Amino acid sequence: AVLGRIRETDDRVRAFLHIDEDRALEKAREMDEAASAGRGEGPLFGVPGAVKDNLCTEGVRTTCASKILANYVPPYTATAVRKLEDARALIVGKTNMDEFAMGSSTENSAFQQTANPWDLGRVPGGSSGGSAAAVAAGQVPFALGSDTGGSIRQPAAFCGVVGLKPTYGRVSRYGLVAFASSLDQIGPITRTVEDAAAVLQAIAGHDPLDSTSAPVEVPNFVGALTGEVKGMRLAVPREYIGEGTDPGVAAAVKRAVDTLAGLGAEVEEVSLPHTKYAVATYYLIAPAEASSNLARYDGVRYGVRVEGDNLIDMYRRTRSEGFGPEVKRRIMLGTYALSSGYCDAYYLRAQKVRTLIRRDFDAVFERFDAVVAPTTPTVAFRFGEKVSDPLTMYLNDILTIPVNLAGLPAVSVPCGLVDGMPVGLQVIGKAFDEAAVLRVAHAYE
Ligand code: GLN
Repeated sequence: AVLGRIRETDDRVRAFLHIDEDRALEKAREMDEAASAGRGEGPLFGVPGAVKDNLCTEGVRTTCASKILANYVPPYTATAVRKLEDARALIVGKTNMDEFAMGSSTENSAFQQTANPWDLGRVPGGSSGGSAAAVAAGQVPFALGSDTGGSIRQPAAFCGVVGLKPTYGRVSRYGLVAFASSLDQIGPITRTVEDAAAVLQAIAGHDPLDSTSAPVEVPNFVGALTGEVKGMRLAVPREYIGEGTDPGVAAAVKRAVDTLAGLGAEVEEVSLPHTKYAVATYYLIAPAEASSNLARYDGVRYGVRVEGDNLIDMYRRTRSEGFGPEVKRRIMLGTYALSSGYCDAYYLRAQKVRTLIRRDFDAVFERFDAVVAPTTPTVAFRFGEKVSDPLTMYLNDILTIPVNLAGLPAVSVPCGLVDGMPVGLQVIGKAFDEAAVLRVAHAYE
């Protein structure tokens, strides 16, 4: 049924970069046999899903939607994907994305444009646009994305589905092609909060193969969905609903907050005063880390090589032809921010501001259980509207980026429509308290 639905819709949505029908059907047959032999156990048994194309899959092409990895077939599988396979979920394909996860519309894919299933003239968001569109189009019940500055939550909001970015360290990054290592996290995109909890349950946990994965216990996320928010203290940051946020989006979020208050939550307005520095801070730290992580694509170790007159010429041609314009922009920005002479003024200063942003949240979480806010300042925009102006594109992530800088968990859940397009309610929690954000989102949903 899933393969049929993809066949029916993907010529318009274009969510998938790669589908292996034969492999999926063969695995499905094995599962049918296991089920009839009484070995079909667990909530994800036989459930089909998709994964973003920056997650390594052994024997299956993993391109990061970049020409430089167009031919890359990893010899190993990412831990998050392996854990899904251990839970007997069935991965049917790899989804489109912005090249190396850099972008907010999936327009930076080197291979194809993915459309928003709600309006094919609009972007699905990004960078996990393929994963969000696939779930929204009813192609698969769940998909994995990655979120460095909003790339799970923003496309989930734009496509009217649920997207969860776990706490930094909750899910192993082993096998996730690195963009900005101190910010990247893998998480689920689903139709319901309960499904997000079930997928997180499967992929979470300490992994010795990722030194930044946290050795903390994994609670029962599904069990945390009580439907109750009575007595929970929720903070609404005034910086998130002010200037720059579309009045329709702000109104939809306000109605959602009123609903939560009606369910017995205590709601209060707070301030996160360093929010205005988040985008600038992120666009120093993320490109700095990216410039270092992307140094490995040199035509020698991985992917595509473009021959040259000598070694340096081969590097230059490979990287010039292999990377797209946004990736090059980030490499230049990051290399500059890290260069001797400018490192103190830019990179180190950004790290200090990052601490201030984290402390804003620490102060709020002394008194509150969760922060509620819009996921994005606007609903999904049209193709071409922002792609020629990087700054406008970057500003679309202003409400999701602070969460990555602070390493916190956050979910986006649909909360109404503006101009016929979905709006996302963002629920942000304390570190490792995904249970609370899922509980609030589920009670609202
Ligand atoms: N849109 C942001 C960027 O381009 C975030 C991307 C992401 O979370 N991977 O960096």
